[in-house]
Amino acid sequence: MIIVMKTDSNLKDTGSVLKKIESLGFKPHLSTGARKTIIGVVGNGKKIDPEVFLVLPGVESVVPILHPFKLASREFKNESSVIHVNGVSIGGNEVVVMAGPCSVENRTQMLLSAETVAKAGAKILRGGAYKPRTSPYSFQGLGEEGLKLLKEAAVANGLCTVTEVISPRLVDIVCEYSDILQIGARNMQNYALLEAVGKTSKPVLLKRGMMSTIEELLMSAEYILANGNPNVILCERGIRSFEPYTRNTLDIAAVPVVKQLSHLPIIVDPSHATGKRSLVNAASRSAIAAGADGLIIEVHPNPEEALSDGAQSLLPDEFTTLMHDIRKIALAVGREVC
Ligand code: PEP
Ligand code: MN
Repeated sequence: MIIVMKTDSNLKDTGSVLKKIESLGFKPHLSTGARKTIIGVVGNGKKIDPEVFLVLPGVESVVPILHPFKLASREFKNESSVIHVNGVSIGGNEVVVMAGPCSVENRTQMLLSAETVAKAGAKILRGGAYKPRTSPYSFQGLGEEGLKLLKEAAVANGLCTVTEVISPRLVDIVCEYSDILQIGARNMQNYALLEAVGKTSKPVLLKRGMMSTIEELLMSAEYILANGNPNVILCERGIRSFEPYTRNTLDIAAVPVVKQLSHLPIIVDPSHATGKRSLVNAASRSAIAAGADGLIIEVHPNPEEALSDGAQSLLPDEFTTLMHDIRKIALAVGREVC
């Protein structure tokens, strides 16, 4: 449930509500909006009597949250969340583009990729150092060496970084090098990993599982939020369907659905959603038109030689064209791209 404080309530009132929640053995989650203070009470399935809060000074109302996700819901926080990453804001008016190769392969590849994407207007450099591959015989990533190369290339080009963390024991090392922790589709329901990233304060890019519903995505976000990390960015990256022409099926409606249900920002990954370079531009434009807060796109200086996902990786020129094209769409829907 959520406790809505009166507009004229003071810090003392809020303090006594928080104390009451804790004394009953529940965990309070405070959300101080521009107009109202809201306190979420998450009760591990235990019943809570609203009356105990309604009698406290400063309390306006007690509202049950009907969704299974609570802290991720719009009821808990009506204003859209903006996640700040080293000077870049995700979820505000600006559409933010993350781009780079699927995997970090070597220094030259990373420096070339970073230069290309920075020049075209991307703000965040992507590149996997730990790769969750379907086959154990496929390239598994360079590990810590890859993290170093990602960071070096990003710093040299004034970019932030996003990279995947695939296990709780790797959270510390990925935090050391990366500005955003990516949870991949295959790990969306790895609850030990969600708890581990939830205990950090780093922004988390949570990708939708390839066989997960929107509600399951929001429940996974809830794990991160409930562990104390409010900095969650959601990502629609396509889901499995019966259609074999594309690698996955981009669920474009997930963008407005998430916007209705949640205050969290959502970006789209048109590369994994389509699996084909020739479809990435159209998928990106549709994502921005649908209200996505950003994109994460695979770009490689030489896709034919990529160690992973070459077929869906854009050539540098194609990425520059894409940035140009999405700027027009962004403007048409009242957003902007740098
Ligand atoms: C990736 O971003 O390279 C990746 C593996 O994506 P996903 O987890 O969406 O498959
Ligand atoms: Mn990839």
